[in-house]
This record gives sequence, C-alpha cells and structure tokens, in this order.
Amino acid sequence: MDHILALIAVHPTEVQEWQCANCGYHFMLEPITRTRLILDSGDFSAPHDFSVGGVEAGAPKVAQDDEPLPKEFEDWINKLEGG
Ligand SMILES: [Zn+2]
Repeated sequence: MDHILALIAVHPTEVQEWQCANCGYHFMLEPITRTRLILDSGDFSAPHDFSVGGVEAGAPKVAQDDEPLPKEFEDWINKLEGG
C-alpha cells in the first residue's frame, strides 16, 4: 500500500493538517513557511506523496474557530507568529 498524504483539515490560520491513512503519519503544515509540526511520525522513513487529487475530490473540513487545537499546536503557532 502506498503512503499517500491526504489533506484532512484546514485550520482558520490557513495551517493544513495532513495524514497518511497507511501508517498514521500526521502533521500540521504552515503553507507559507512550509514548517511542519509532526503529531505522529508514523512510518517516517517511507516515501510519502501528497494526494492532490484527494483535495479536489473531497473538500477538506474547515476547522471551526471554537474547535480546540492541540496544546502543542497552539504553542507552535505562537512560535511562528512570534518569529
Ligand atoms: Zn505513511
């Protein structure tokens, strides 16, 4: 089974959340700086492709403002914004 990263959510800050259904590799991607926050390293050594088709076929859910973000993610955003 191929390792295909699917866009599963876009947060209000434009940060994208990607996950591989095969190994569970799961990370946040800040699209401008292309900084990643790894939430689950999964099979990190496997080659992963981004599923562009998946993005087109199924619109990712957009996280609501009141949806709680993981604490580590909030810290990460604060760090990005703080420089
Ligand atoms: Zn994978």
